[in-house]
Amino acid sequence: MIDSRRWIVGVVCTGLFVIGTSCRAAPVWSVVTNQKKIAFTFDDGPKPEYSIPLLATLDSLRVRATFFVVGKEAAANIDLIKEMHDRGHEVANHTYTHTRLPNVSVDQIRAEISSTNQVIGRFIDGNARRLFRPPGGQFNTKVIQAAESLGMTVVLWDVNAGDYVVESDRLGVKDENRRANGAPFAKGVTQQILANVKPGSIILMHNGGAIIDVLPQLVTQLRAKGYDMVTVSDLIRSSNAVHTGAGKTEYVPD
Ligand SMILES: [Zn+2]
Repeated sequence: MIDSRRWIVGVVCTGLFVIGTSCRAAPVWSVVTNQKKIAFTFDDGPKPEYSIPLLATLDSLRVRATFFVVGKEAAANIDLIKEMHDRGHEVANHTYTHTRLPNVSVDQIRAEISSTNQVIGRFIDGNARRLFRPPGGQFNTKVIQAAESLGMTVVLWDVNAGDYVVESDRLGVKDENRRANGAPFAKGVTQQILANVKPGSIILMHNGGAIIDVLPQLVTQLRAKGYDMVTVSDLIRSSNAVHTGAGKTEYVPD
């Protein structure tokens, strides 16, 4: 069953390669695996006031994560990108200006991605998969094709920590449904993740202050359930197929 599905997808990919298009025509939502491996992802950094304590907390927990960084913030805080890389985390692309991509031209999408790659490229291993996450998770065919034309693997998530709601509060954004700060928030985020996590999950969190205090108890509880936290690239490498949304899976060629 699995072999035949792989064979069929392989044929599709080969056909697309012949006409010069990547076979990765869909974003990665999570990874197909029986191993209890998951990936923490932190979007929107680097921000010194949050990134420095976040990196210290991840160090103390011995967790490696993937940071989807905003190019203009990375350019202004390149030492933090180096810190992320030197501490064993994965640095990935989250556009240059955090603009909503479905609203802009293909050329602008490519420029958002390329200019960020120019800033963070030297912190990405030459053989590593280059990962890209569109702001807000908003994408259409144009976004996917632009990213793939630049050799990027588009990564979304299957578990949302919901921590951005508290970050919105910090910025003064009105939100009727915002969560409480402090202990209720920590409990809510932890329960939200524990209720939805599965082998191969990619978890959306943010490079903000709210998540930092949650991490110790979250990591403890995930490890008690047998989960190991790895980078997105390591997660993808640990399997040969990914979930691409709407119940579909796709073979990963390397
Ligand atoms: Zn973002």
